[in-house]
Amino acid sequence: MKIVVLPGDGIGPEIMAVAVRVLEAASERFQLDLEIGHDIAGHASLQRHGATVTPALLEKVKAADGLMLGPMATYDFKDEAKGEINPSKFFRKELDLYANIRPARTFPGMAHRVGEFNLAVVRENTEGFYADRNIESGSSEMLITPDTVISLRRITRLCCERIARSAFDLARTRARHVSIVHKANVLKIGDGMFVDICRQVAREFPQVRVDDFIVDAMMAHVVRAPQRFDVIVTTNMFGDILSDLTAELSGSLGLGGSLNAGKDHAMGQAVHGSAPDIAGRNIANPYSLILSAGQLLGWHGQRKNLPAFALAARAIDETATAALQAREGTRDAGGELGTAEAGQSFVRRLLEGRCR
Ligand code: NAD
Repeated sequence: MKIVVLPGDGIGPEIMAVAVRVLEAASERFQLDLEIGHDIAGHASLQRHGATVTPALLEKVKAADGLMLGPMATYDFKDEAKGEINPSKFFRKELDLYANIRPARTFPGMAHRVGEFNLAVVRENTEGFYADRNIESGSSEMLITPDTVISLRRITRLCCERIARSAFDLARTRARHVSIVHKANVLKIGDGMFVDICRQVAREFPQVRVDDFIVDAMMAHVVRAPQRFDVIVTTNMFGDILSDLTAELSGSLGLGGSLNAGKDHAMGQAVHGSAPDIAGRNIANPYSLILSAGQLLGWHGQRKNLPAFALAARAIDETATAALQAREGTRDAGGELGTAEAGQSFVRRLLEGRCR
């Protein structure tokens, strides 16, 4: 398996260095024969190549089996004409990574504010309120006069159907429950269609229980009793917001890993951003990217029917549980270690296979 690694901005290089060591250790223990290629995106690429991402990088990623994308300082990238392209959007759009799967679970031994839970947000990734990916060229956010902006949201049957199917497929492997989250009381046509299509797809999965919630009330439900939920399927922006909340409720935003998956490509990526407030201090939590790396290996194993990759993905998950229980994480996750030290103890555990 060839994986391209792009460390990103802010805390990206610190936490990606840990994720790479974990991938190497998984490769060693499970004989995965991983080939890891290093490149740059974001500010580093803007400085060197005049653009945050380049066509040559895209070709390299297309030729690989997976991508690990570090957090990017997307707020800094304002003008695509100056090469300031949001790398996250770029890969999601160019590789058609339509399903953003963001699991969130509590870990034994860690304090949790809202009780134990284990859920996954399945977020549509290629349209919706994210105006930078709705039209073929340019952005669907327009400055009409100096004082008037119009931002267009696109919702299509194709994107609703495929994200619904991803959610129900995932639910089949979990607790067989899908909750549809929407704002169909106001966005009656677009979100109305989203709910209708999710319910149509649900008929193909009679073994999966389905319900739906309006997004504002959902915020209260998730804080009140997250254990009610298994798979939550929703449109782009609602999923982005909700998954920061579920990651934080699981113990820390720094535990939020995710996979962006399409038909032919996948990208592991943290839920959070580049965290400039803590960059360069060896305190960032590397688990977001460790868990994302595990998801990427699991995706590859499932797609290519390679059991060793599934075993490696499971071992990464179990090692995370054991290491956090032993308080071998960073301070935000109840431990006392720095980023690099938390990474070292994770790698040691993974190699020793002493997960429980
Ligand atoms: P953020 O997600 O970077 O940080 C929010 C808070 O969580 C901060 O207090 C930060 O210190 C903390 N945090 C985040 N990751 C952590 C980790 N691994 N360990 C410990 N604490 C962690 O959000 P922000 O500060 O609003 O955004 C910073 C930049 O990131 C902006 O440019 C924004 O546009 C960008 N961003 C990028 C992505 C992405 O690349 N996918 C996602 C969200 C935000």
